[in-house]
Amino acid sequence: MNGIEQNLIEILRQTGSRVTLVAVSKNHPVDAIREAYQAGQRIFGENKVQEILNKRPLLPDDIQWHLIGHLQTNKVKQIAPFISMIQSVDSLKLLKEISEQAIKNNRIINCLLQVFIATEETKFGFSQPELSDLLKYLNQNPMTGVKIRGLMGMASFTDNQDQIRQEFHGLKSLFDELKEQFFADQPGFNELSIGMSGDYEIAIEEGSTIIRVGTKIFGTR
Ligand SMILES: *Cc1c(COP(=O)(O)O)cnc(C)c1O
Repeated sequence: MNGIEQNLIEILRQTGSRVTLVAVSKNHPVDAIREAYQAGQRIFGENKVQEILNKRPLLPDDIQWHLIGHLQTNKVKQIAPFISMIQSVDSLKLLKEISEQAIKNNRIINCLLQVFIATEETKFGFSQPELSDLLKYLNQNPMTGVKIRGLMGMASFTDNQDQIRQEFHGLKSLFDELKEQFFADQPGFNELSIGMSGDYEIAIEEGSTIIRVGTKIFGTR
């Protein structure tokens, strides 16, 4: 049994069927993805459009690709035909483009709205007020090419477990509020993507439904 398979088994043993595991394969070669695939993993996350486009033709068709990194509007059309979920929606302009490209492809693309929860300046995402504004706007102006499935967030880059827990807790509260306020009649708003290699156990305790794990599966690179 190889290392990748062992790592996957270990993570699945810890998390069980409670959450969806996205294997973050960015910076790792297709051989590593193939090993994870052979161990049963089907959902992979990448943060760059070009990397998905390069790898996808070399791998099995039934892989579900999630985009988890910042997406430029002009690149949406390249992934619209196949992308399974875009977790990193961080502007109205981007959401509109995803919807337009989805419609052109006769698809409805699953999206998560990325929320800014960390203290660092560099992370992308909506603030809480921006998110309310966006959802009010969408109530008045529905977009038929996208389905908003929930929220995605990244905790601060810190060893302080209490801070990480607080940030996740805050995002879960926000998720519950928005669900009640804007999605009461839409059961599909049910995903909270929080938790990476270093913090997925805390994230699950705080209500994660999707964890995005790279290093702990594939090692560092
Ligand atoms: C790289 C990345 C991950 C995975 O991080 P690890 O610490 O390697 O598990 C998760 N989410 C996003 C948005 C990433 O860019």
